Amino acid sequence: MTSLTRADWEQRAKTLKVEGRAFIHGEYCAAQSGATFECISPVDGRLLAQVVSCDAPDAEIAVAGARATFDSGVWSRLAPVKRKAVMIRFADLIEQHGEELALLETLDMGKPIGDSLHIDVTSAARAIRWSGEAIDKIYDEVAATPHDELGLVTREPIGVVAAIVPWNFPLLMSCWKLGPALATGNSVILKPSEKSPLTAIRIAQLAIEAGIPAGVFNVLPGYGHTVGKALALHMDVDTLVFTGSTKIAKQLMVYAGESNMKRVWLEAGGKSPNIVFADAPDLKAAAEAAAGAIAFNQGEVCTAGSRLLVENSIKEQFVPLVVEAIKSWKPGNPLDPATNVGALVDSTQMNNVLGYIQAGHDDGAKLVAGGKRVLEETGGTYVEPTIFDGVDNAMRIAKEEIFGPVLSVIGFDTVEEAVAIANDTVYGLAAAVWTSNLSKAHLTAKALRAGSVWVNQYDGGDMTAPFGGFKQSGNGRDKSLHAFDKYTELKATWIKL
Ligand code: NAD
Repeated sequence: MTSLTRADWEQRAKTLKVEGRAFIHGEYCAAQSGATFECISPVDGRLLAQVVSCDAPDAEIAVAGARATFDSGVWSRLAPVKRKAVMIRFADLIEQHGEELALLETLDMGKPIGDSLHIDVTSAARAIRWSGEAIDKIYDEVAATPHDELGLVTREPIGVVAAIVPWNFPLLMSCWKLGPALATGNSVILKPSEKSPLTAIRIAQLAIEAGIPAGVFNVLPGYGHTVGKALALHMDVDTLVFTGSTKIAKQLMVYAGESNMKRVWLEAGGKSPNIVFADAPDLKAAAEAAAGAIAFNQGEVCTAGSRLLVENSIKEQFVPLVVEAIKSWKPGNPLDPATNVGALVDSTQMNNVLGYIQAGHDDGAKLVAGGKRVLEETGGTYVEPTIFDGVDNAMRIAKEEIFGPVLSVIGFDTVEEAVAIANDTVYGLAAAVWTSNLSKAHLTAKALRAGSVWVNQYDGGDMTAPFGGFKQSGNGRDKSLHAFDKYTELKATWIKL
């Protein structure tokens, strides 16, 4: 815990050293073109840094360096027990610099400082440490062979990994990729979002301090259509791992097909249903969780519980409980430790969200909470957590990922109807079910086409469980040992004895 006040954080923000350069082969550097872009804080519009804007020539240099480092074996062939020690040091350093990283994250993307510190930084360090700790405990396989043969099934690092990540959990999404990618011995080029590049840039230095050799971990800040595209089309990138929107995820599959058929692993969007049955064990707890599921991180969460499906027999009683619960989620200055809803990442995103609120009105949904931009005088981009009742699943606010704090409440009468509405989406990332009937919980969970299902809670999980999507929410899984599949090739070696 930290005892820092808003004034303390403001003071630290004034003297914070913000690094905006790319990190290639162990050193911070400018782009070949010299180009930069402005990094503006959504908290109040302050300029945080000029950030290097990389493009194809920078990708060329970084990929060549990453390839040479991989081939040298300095990291890829290091004994797992030694890689483990370095990874654990890296995690320790992230924790030791936790307050600095949390401040960078909050200033850069607008999330509450308490969340940055206690959720993002903590979970990021855990992702690195957990992956590192696992790497000397995994065994390969021996196939069932005739007596005079030996079949070895081994995993090898895949080579050069490009990781393209979004802005909603910048450090954490980076570390979900970096943990297993580095632990398994690959060289990595990380491309953070242009909306929130600062923590990715900062941890590159910490990686070097931890002992990760130069060239193994590189960071190329810049835009998606420039350096992101260059990495995705590069003929010498072996694997592309991505978290972001479904639209860009599809584009990346095209780039892979147009270039070297690099493996493409995608964590994409969501429109997750949160189903509350009349026999939920505790309606107040379910209502509080439903409010948190859309307000946490300003609703900028891939698993946001953005569709609240409520059994009609309790709807009149339940919706007011959610409206009451959401009052405790109030936009405020993200540097104030008491704030639980910060700023949206930028004015483009804020205008998207306000556009969806207008669409809700236009389509005839009934606004029952929020609905407005607030704190405009701060120069920041804040929107109230918003609830629409009387939503039909065909309305835009129920179909499209808003990626902001806008909840759609939809009524249903039977289990079958709830499941049909829940699955009537192109996405399949997460879902929740509230009931005290064990069989109903299991049967509904089985029927839901989603990578994560929560029962009588929203958003549970840990590094120990895989995370990812069905349908257009993506392929493959982050977290857990299953994540290692993305970063290794399987080899069969067959020996005649
Ligand atoms: P985005 O798809 O716009 O951008 C993601 C990344 O892709 C950024 O780094 C961006 O610069 C890059 N990019 C954009 N165009 C590119 C191109 N043509 N070639 C290569 N790279 C390109 O997504 P976003 O707005 O940053 O993030 C929000 C999205 O992320 C939401 O859809 C959300 O659901 C999703 N998300 C998913 C998960 C998950 O685990 N499934 C987690 C967090 C966020």
